[in-house]
Amino acid sequence: MPATTIDGKQISKDIQAKIKQQVADFVAAGHQQPKLVAVLVGEDPASQVYVRNKERACKRAGIASQLTRLSADSTTQQLLELVNELNNDGSVSGILVQLPLPPAIDAIKVLDAISPLKDVDAFHPENVGLLSQGRPRFLPCTPFGIVHILKRSGITTSGKSVCIIGRSDIVGKPMALMLAQKDSPLGSDMANATVTLCHSRTKNLAEVCATADIVIAAIGKPEFVTADMLKPGATVIDVGINRTDDGLVGDVDFDSALDVASHITPVPGGVGPLTVTILLENTLKAAQLNQAS
Ligand code: NDP
Repeated sequence: MPATTIDGKQISKDIQAKIKQQVADFVAAGHQQPKLVAVLVGEDPASQVYVRNKERACKRAGIASQLTRLSADSTTQQLLELVNELNNDGSVSGILVQLPLPPAIDAIKVLDAISPLKDVDAFHPENVGLLSQGRPRFLPCTPFGIVHILKRSGITTSGKSVCIIGRSDIVGKPMALMLAQKDSPLGSDMANATVTLCHSRTKNLAEVCATADIVIAAIGKPEFVTADMLKPGATVIDVGINRTDDGLVGDVDFDSALDVASHITPVPGGVGPLTVTILLENTLKAAQLNQAS
């Protein structure tokens, strides 16, 4: 029987409806409307699409959004000044600097300058530290979106073996940290996994992958994971977004994996919509935190 294709768009819709209600309740209680400011440097076409999607999602949820554009030749200092202004602006709940930044800009310096209380991407070292200690402030958008996908699909992680391919600070590493914890905001069933974090130096990657109950591919290489790398009945989460001549494809060879996996996320329409949804959740959380501080 072919795998169940997980509908990330529908899961997103359901969660966004809840967030919309929570935002309305927050505002009805007399609080300022949550506001997300996105900073976009340069004209990267993919980044423009991502930022536009984020703005639209904010609008749907009743969250105010603002896009601040800077030219591609902006300096690190200019960005630091902008971030500082946004940190001190009481009307701003969350700040998002769209990556990648032009190579001349010191991205780490800029991301570190964002107030940890407005760090809705959860990239700040303070927030990464809290996550690693099992007491997260903000959950990183893509990894937490994946936990939501698993939960809504009736797939628990406790006691399961999870193979994560890719160790980026945005996806792979925080994903490993979250699943290896004793607990999760969605319950201990959605943590307590035995995690193997693979990367380009991993030996026998295919064999390691084939032992996993859950495979999470975040590599950035089209159709890298093939059916022969999967254990029959495995759950396959495809994070990859690769632009090819045939359109968008993931890091998993979807057609062949379909015959082996039990559940699989498509690209597009799988993990992507959840990433934006968690950003909304984090912006509301930031508004609540900034209200309290
Ligand atoms: P990075 O480029 O930062 O990291 C890629 C990782 O893959 C690295 O850890 C690298 O290993 C590893 N890798 C590369 N080649 C191999 C290989 N041959 N074997 C094993 N591991 C390998 O990627 P990101 O995490 O930022 O993104 C990954 C993908 O996910 C991209 O396609 C991106 O567009 C997509 N993405 C999708 C999101 C969504 O919302 N759906 C959100 C974020 C990203 P090493 O560390 O050794 O170099």
